[in-house]
Amino acid sequence: MAILGAKTFQNYIDGEWLDAASGETFESTSPANGDTVGVFPKSGPEDVDRAVVAAKAASEEWRLVPAPKRGEVLFRFAQLLAEHKDDVTDLMTHEMGKVKAEAAGDVQEAIDMAYYMGGEGRRLFGQTTPSELRDKFQMSVRMPVGVVGAITPWNFPIAIPSWKTLPAIVCGNTVVFKPATDTPALGERYVELFAQAGLPKGVLNIVHGGGSDVGQRLVEHPDVPIITFTGSRETGVAVTKAAAENLKHVHLELGGKNAIIVMDDADLDLAVDGIVWSAFGTSGQRCTAASRVIVHEAVYDQLASRLVTRVEQMRLGPGWEDDTDVGPVINKGALDKIHSYTEIGEDEGAKLLTGGEVAEGNGLEKGFYYRPTVFGDVQSGMRIAQEEIFGPTTALIRVRSLDEAIAVSNGVKYGLSSSIFSGDVNKAFRAMRDLDTGITYINAGTIGAEVHLPFGGTKDTGNGHREAGQAALDVFTEWKSIYVDYSGKLQRAQIDTAE
Ligand code: NAD
Repeated sequence: MAILGAKTFQNYIDGEWLDAASGETFESTSPANGDTVGVFPKSGPEDVDRAVVAAKAASEEWRLVPAPKRGEVLFRFAQLLAEHKDDVTDLMTHEMGKVKAEAAGDVQEAIDMAYYMGGEGRRLFGQTTPSELRDKFQMSVRMPVGVVGAITPWNFPIAIPSWKTLPAIVCGNTVVFKPATDTPALGERYVELFAQAGLPKGVLNIVHGGGSDVGQRLVEHPDVPIITFTGSRETGVAVTKAAAENLKHVHLELGGKNAIIVMDDADLDLAVDGIVWSAFGTSGQRCTAASRVIVHEAVYDQLASRLVTRVEQMRLGPGWEDDTDVGPVINKGALDKIHSYTEIGEDEGAKLLTGGEVAEGNGLEKGFYYRPTVFGDVQSGMRIAQEEIFGPTTALIRVRSLDEAIAVSNGVKYGLSSSIFSGDVNKAFRAMRDLDTGITYINAGTIGAEVHLPFGGTKDTGNGHREAGQAALDVFTEWKSIYVDYSGKLQRAQIDTAE
């Protein structure tokens, strides 16, 4: 590939590729080795306004295109993305840093979502119900909301835009999309392929730039009735406040502090596989990453030692190399933050079992690599067991019973994903009922969602909405209830009665 050098990219607004109105630019660089991936427009409010005007105009026609026809564009997009899967995967290993298999999974998730949501073009089911009155028909139908502002993070740079734009578009909305400034090339590629699939101009627009310039204007724009946002809790709160003035719909997918429970009757080899995958996949930079492991005291020592042995065998390197297990973290700020949590953990009295340092040597110093880190003897109230680190660090917490394990798992402000390893079906069902998260896995780690089930979390992970599956349609449509009275006379609900 793939590395794009100093190629300059543009915004895509109303079917045209355009520079930022200011003419300013910013660079995207690889977290793996510092290479330049591309140069992108550093847009501002004027560019957002232009994109919103285009999206608003396009929505007048797009909402009238029959939904099955809208779905056909998604099918073509799915095919195109599948044809380009290898090059988009390669670009992701360079720009975002995740390892090849995971980058391919990120792209595959968008392909799956495009097929799933394309099929919604022939469903978008509403309801019909009988009326209390004679000669009266009633139904509910889904209506598009209008212009959707989609603001995304860098950690799933193809999948997350797909979770937002695909249901939005098949439901008849138009979109202004602001990707993260760490992954603009992937956002650009996504939009380019979607446009090639035959989207009419103005239906999907991309405006590159920072949160306070582009994101904030999108959130405040009076002609954008709905914001779909994935990112940190702090930004989610800021978005909610800024959107309140216009009473916008706000759909939030925020952070996590997910835990795997390992009971004394668990298959420990399987549990170690699940922990390694969930804690260190994507270098721990998944909202569903397992940054806590809650272990029954009877198997704690055995599990800790097996886990540390496995973790110390993991090879760090650029994501595009076949034998890399752990890629870089996204940028210098993330590296510093992750290391600061190692210091916090040591100060709090947790025991550093392995890792805990910036990785150097063999060229790793050119990028942002952190050794996979495991803390033992962690107390559930410690900051490393409460706060989202978003890096390759996990904390082992010892418990004596299932009740205690569930209480510890639930004892954080987030509620995204949870997991339990146990051979006992009764314990598994209690966990399914009592773990306060939007997603629970039994005998699997905390990561691995599929596109046809709802995705999202309880408590501070969001505000009650879900992406993916049928639930996404509730975000991107308004219900309309329609009553058709064909009796030819005035019939008053709750007052007149049918014979
Ligand atoms: P972030 O909050 O820093 O940024 C997310 C996006 O918001 C970026 O595009 C950013 O430019 C934009 N933004 C920043 N300030 C803004 C503002 N004032 N107004 C509007 N937009 C603004 O998050 P990040 O560091 O990119 O991503 C990591 C976070 O995302 C983690 O907390 C992670 O858990 C979370 N996440 C959640 C999910 C989920 O589905 N629950 C999925 C992936 C990531």
